[in-house]
Amino acid sequence: MLVTIHNHAAGTCAWCRCRSDDGVQAQFKDGLSGFFCKKDFWAALKARADEQASPVEASPKVARSSQS
Ligand SMILES: [Zn+2]
Repeated sequence: MLVTIHNHAAGTCAWCRCRSDDGVQAQFKDGLSGFFCKKDFWAALKARADEQASPVEASPKVARSSQS
């Protein structure tokens, strides 16, 4: 699980400091946690999803070695 969403709530975004009535309290597995507006939550989630995906694509040797 890349991120745990504790609850949907209103608050001040930890990222852009904007006030949002439609954000989430979230804990990312890399330690980032806090309240995020929807926009920044998705941005943070996407950045982490891309980080997870890119090493697999960037290093096909890892996948090949497990087949031998
Ligand atoms: Zn924000």
